[in-house]
Amino acid sequence: FDRLKDGLLKTKQNIVAKIEDVLKKSSVDEELFEKLEEILIEGDVGVKPSLELVEKLRKVAKEQRISDGEQLKQVLKEEIRTILALGDNSLKETSRNPQVILVVGVNGVGKTTTIGKLAYYFKQQGKQVILAACDTFRAAAIDQLEIWGNRTGCQVIKHSEGSDPAAVAFDAVKAAVARRADILIVDTAGRLHTKTNLMEELRKIKRVIEREVSGAPDEILLVLDATTGQNALSQVEYFNKALELTGLVLTKLDGTAKGGVIIGIKSSYQIPIKFIGVGEKMDDLRPFDPHEFVEALFN
Ligand code: GDP
Repeated sequence: FDRLKDGLLKTKQNIVAKIEDVLKKSSVDEELFEKLEEILIEGDVGVKPSLELVEKLRKVAKEQRISDGEQLKQVLKEEIRTILALGDNSLKETSRNPQVILVVGVNGVGKTTTIGKLAYYFKQQGKQVILAACDTFRAAAIDQLEIWGNRTGCQVIKHSEGSDPAAVAFDAVKAAVARRADILIVDTAGRLHTKTNLMEELRKIKRVIEREVSGAPDEILLVLDATTGQNALSQVEYFNKALELTGLVLTKLDGTAKGGVIIGIKSSYQIPIKFIGVGEKMDDLRPFDPHEFVEALFN
C-alpha cells in the first residue's frame, strides 16, 4: 500500500492537494464548484467526466445542505470510488486450460514489461505460463520477451522477425495445450503508423486463438501509459472497436501527475481496469483495487 501511495504522490499533489487547498480557502458556492471543475480537468480527468463529477457534487451538496469543505471532500472521494468500482475489476476466472490472455497496445506503453510482470504474477501462484512472441515486426520485441521469459522461467514461443504473427499464435496455442500450460500470454505488435493494418493483424490473431481453443481469448487486455493522459482515451476507443476489450492495464502510474486519467477512462468506458503498473520491477504490477486506490490518493 505504501508503494502505491508513494507512486501516486504526484497525482495526489496535482488533484487532491489542490482541491484541499481551495476547500480551505472558499465556502461551498458556485465559484468553488467551478474551481473544482478546473482542477479536475487540469488533472487529466477529462472535460466531460469532470463536469459530470462536479454536477453530482452540486446536487449532493444541495440535497444534504453541505457547507463544510471537508464534508464535500468526502462526498467527492465517495463519488470517485463509485466510478472506479464500476464493474468487475478482477481477472476472469475460467476452468479452461490454457487460459489465453491477449495483450495489445501502442508501442512504448509498457506492454512487454506488463507481460513479464503478469508472467511473474501467475508464476507466484504456481501456474505454468507460456509466452507467445506475436510482435514479429520488431526483432527487439522478440528479444525483450525472451529476456522476460528467462527472468520468470517461462517458455517463449517465437518465429523469426517478419513472420506471420497469426502463425506464431497458432503454434503457441498448440504448445500450451500440449504442455498443459495454465496460462498463455500473447504479446502483439503496437505500431500505429505503417501501411499494414495493425487492427487487421490483431483480429487475425484473435480469430486463430478462437478457433484453436474453441472460444474467445479469456482476456483481451489493452495496456495504456498513464503519462500520456488524455491520449489514452483515444487508444481505448480505437482498440475496443476492433477487438472488444475485456480489460485495461494502466502503466507508469508511479511518478506521473496525470493519474487522474484513470477516473476519466473509467467514467467514459465501461471497461474494467484489471491491473495498474507502479514501477519497472517484476512485482510492480498490482491487481486494481478501487478502494485501495482512492485511499492512497486521498490519505
Ligand atoms: P512496449 O513497447 O509497450 O512493449 O513497452 P516496454 O515494455 O518496452 O516499456 C517501455 C518502458 O516503460 C520501459 O523502459 C519500461 O521499463 C517502462 N515501464 C513499463 N511499465 C512501467 C511502470 O509501471 N512504471 C514505470 N515507471 N515504467 C514502466
